[in-house]
Amino acid sequence: MRESGCVLLKYGELALKGRNRRHFEDRLAENVRRALADVAGVRLRRRAGLLVLSARAELDEVVRRARDVPGVSVVQPAVRAGKTADEAAAAAVDLLRAESERTFRVRVRRRDKRFPMTSEELAKQVGARVVAELGLPVDLEHPDVTVTVEVDEFEIFVSTQRLPGQGGLPVGTGGRAVVLLSGGFDSPVAAYRTLRRGVHCEFVHFTGAPFTGPSSAYKAYAHVRGLRRFHGDARLHLVPLGKAQRALASAGAGELQIVAQRRLMIRCAEALARRLHADALVTGDSLGQVASQTLPNLATIDDAATLPVLRPLLGWDKTEIIAEARRIGTADVSALPDEDCCSLLTPPFVATRTTPGQLTDLEGRLDLSSTVDGLLDHAQILRPGADEHQAALGAVES
Ligand code: ATP
Ligand code: MG
Repeated sequence: MRESGCVLLKYGELALKGRNRRHFEDRLAENVRRALADVAGVRLRRRAGLLVLSARAELDEVVRRARDVPGVSVVQPAVRAGKTADEAAAAAVDLLRAESERTFRVRVRRRDKRFPMTSEELAKQVGARVVAELGLPVDLEHPDVTVTVEVDEFEIFVSTQRLPGQGGLPVGTGGRAVVLLSGGFDSPVAAYRTLRRGVHCEFVHFTGAPFTGPSSAYKAYAHVRGLRRFHGDARLHLVPLGKAQRALASAGAGELQIVAQRRLMIRCAEALARRLHADALVTGDSLGQVASQTLPNLATIDDAATLPVLRPLLGWDKTEIIAEARRIGTADVSALPDEDCCSLLTPPFVATRTTPGQLTDLEGRLDLSSTVDGLLDHAQILRPGADEHQAALGAVES
């Protein structure tokens, strides 16, 4: 076999999933295929316990994208060699040629138990060849480079790099949720933590339209587009909340205004979730971060929902959230100024100890169910990133 470059994707946690394993592997392979759909000449092979990607060129791009796909725990650029000790040793020598004056060791994994040599014999033979040809010193305890030799069904994979992936579970294996996405730092991070546990996300953003400009919607759009690198395509539902916010204020919400708005958002998100067959709602709340996020207020907000309201950042400090936002690349958009719907009609004092009873009194003065239906009927549905792709294709065709 001619040596050729490839990329191995490992998926640790999936191994724990027993009977569902096949389903998880199918979904992961599908998600990886989608993430690489526009990289030229990519080929995906499935092997027991791993995926193998090869491409005519752009292997760096393949590595970069594979590291963003949830469910992939390790990404290993590797070389495919024939199934003999000689070919594996030659591949190891090629890989280590650039590593002058560094120590190394060889680690062997034999997934094909019928291979005629033991792991130890193979490791020794590969190591001896590297010493003979390159003169690199062996260090079994603290090597600069570990050469991994993996004996598989049809080939031997040799690699010197092990890069961390996102970990987690493949999107689409954990049900579906509606994420309440604002322009701020918290909710995009909450979305990431949720999608990384395998949940397919639909996004909803409430604007203050017609009383505020489009800036917060642009930010929400940019967030959904940015999260595509982990999630793949997703829909963003834009809901103009301004008039309903005014109605709450006119009904005398006063210091309950913010919590009343949040209950209205939750009701809309829930109605949307029912239409989309989603199983939960997700918010970026972190306990005690602002007045609307005290325990009594979160309880009052949840009282408006029947679906579970997930809050993956509940126990996170703002500094931790911002660090994670930087790591996943959402921080810059979050930092942009915007005109959020919550800045409309903010009362001078926000009640920190509300009860559901106070809110149902207030809401009784409005016709809530028709308000919610009306809001959703006016929602605009976008596919950030995918829309642009479609538009570009359309432009080429016409
Ligand atoms: P974030 O950084 O996510 O904006 P925040 O610190 O500004 O959060 P709040 O404004 O109290 O906190 O919002 C709490 C959560 O409520 C948000 O994380 C988000 O899930 C949801 N939310 C708030 N405003 C909106 C909005 N305009 N559209 C959709 N969801 C919203
Ligand atoms: Mg906010």
